[in-house]
Amino acid sequence: MSYVQNVLNGLIAKNQGQAEFIQAATEVLTTIEPCVAANPAYEKAALLERLVEPERQIMFRVPWIDDKGNVQVNRGFRVQFNSAIGPYKGGLRFHPSVNLSIIKFLGFEQIFKNSLTTLPIGGGKGGSDFDPKGKSDNEVMRFCQSFMTELYRHIGADTDVPAGDIGVGGREVAYMYGQYKRITGLYEGVLTGKGLTFGGSLVRTEATGYGLVYLVQEMLQAAGDSFEGKTVVISGAGNVAVYAAYKATQLGAKVVSLSDSTGYIYDKDGVDLAYVEDLKFNKRGRLSEYKNHKPSAEYHDGKGVWNIPCDIALPCATQNELTEADAKTLVANGCKAVGEGANMPSTLEAIDVFLKNKVLFAPAKAANAGGVATSALEMSQNSARLSWTFDEVDAKLHGIMVSIYNNMASAAKEYGVEGNFVAGANIAGFLKVAEAMMAQGIV
Ligand code: NDP
Repeated sequence: MSYVQNVLNGLIAKNQGQAEFIQAATEVLTTIEPCVAANPAYEKAALLERLVEPERQIMFRVPWIDDKGNVQVNRGFRVQFNSAIGPYKGGLRFHPSVNLSIIKFLGFEQIFKNSLTTLPIGGGKGGSDFDPKGKSDNEVMRFCQSFMTELYRHIGADTDVPAGDIGVGGREVAYMYGQYKRITGLYEGVLTGKGLTFGGSLVRTEATGYGLVYLVQEMLQAAGDSFEGKTVVISGAGNVAVYAAYKATQLGAKVVSLSDSTGYIYDKDGVDLAYVEDLKFNKRGRLSEYKNHKPSAEYHDGKGVWNIPCDIALPCATQNELTEADAKTLVANGCKAVGEGANMPSTLEAIDVFLKNKVLFAPAKAANAGGVATSALEMSQNSARLSWTFDEVDAKLHGIMVSIYNNMASAAKEYGVEGNFVAGANIAGFLKVAEAMMAQGIV
């Protein structure tokens, strides 16, 4: 049995019930096999066994009081997965589905994504099963303060720097930052995604969506194509989805759909993005209201966004939202390129369908790395006590996405899987971390 298979079997036996973590580890380990086989020293140093075990996993109680005076208790998580190439870095997710398996899968992915950005950041992730939806601002504030009252002792500008993710936007980051500063007395870049008046970076809000489109643009260009005149289907209506939609539109494409957890809209004339941005981020409303604004558009309850014919699909909502059947439908409808804005949105079977049908496929690790890359740029600005202009940060983001594309494309070529960017991204991300871990000894 190969070294990789042996490690995977051990991981599956040891992490029963952690389906998402096992899925993410399987994808990475099976695709890096050629490069692991070429370096027998890795096995001797038990490199993979160490790589799949988080350096530290923290779980804690988060008690808070709701507006009716009732005591609520949620569970908090921070998984500090790997610090070989820099301080732990990765977002916080607040969503009722959050559990240890989901945080571990996200933290594991983050190691390779952060390595791919070419910046010195390790991998981590955290969050809570708290649901900010339907809560008042005061309830969200009390929750965030309680969450940070435990988390503060585990993080710091040079140890672990969390950011946003699903359910954690500017409002939540600001409440957590306020509490961190109040407890520690430190005014430091301990969180990214901060407001512009207290150390935030321009472009951070737009970065993941913009970066996704920059990377897909690079992939299309290498195949002699572009966004110009293309029909684009996007899932999600949050931070990643909305700014990906703006950038794709700027590049000449027409975005005809967005979705949320209750349904999706189809607007054949192109979605009114300014309306959706205001509806979701300011009014915290539902996409079902879009029809009141534009009666010519369609709203459908439930899943089904992938049935809409398109040239380019950008899944930007959540994990495993695009199944094998969805992938087959997209291929049958002529979809030519897929870029993953969300983390692990496509199942392993869906990815197989794309690769077999020669659909250009940009995996999340590479495609959505623009968010964390810009977070690292926020850290640099905080350390230097400087702030760069929008155009400066945007140009750096664009340059990073081009490098990521080039690195994953050339790693795929070098290891004999040209055009397979899943393998290319995993190998390119893995090699840097592996080299650092080998150099640092058995730790
Ligand atoms: P937001 O909370 O801003 O938006 C998430 C969107 O996805 C919402 O429209 C939400 O619908 C929908 N959604 C969430 N969960 C589900 C579900 N279980 N089923 C269907 N729809 C769902 O999050 P982000 O845009 O920040 O994150 C989206 C994805 O991108 C996640 O996978 C995240 O990990 C990834 N990502 C985010 C980065 C960032 O910088 N923000 C960086 C890199 C990756 P509703 O409004 O109904 O809840």
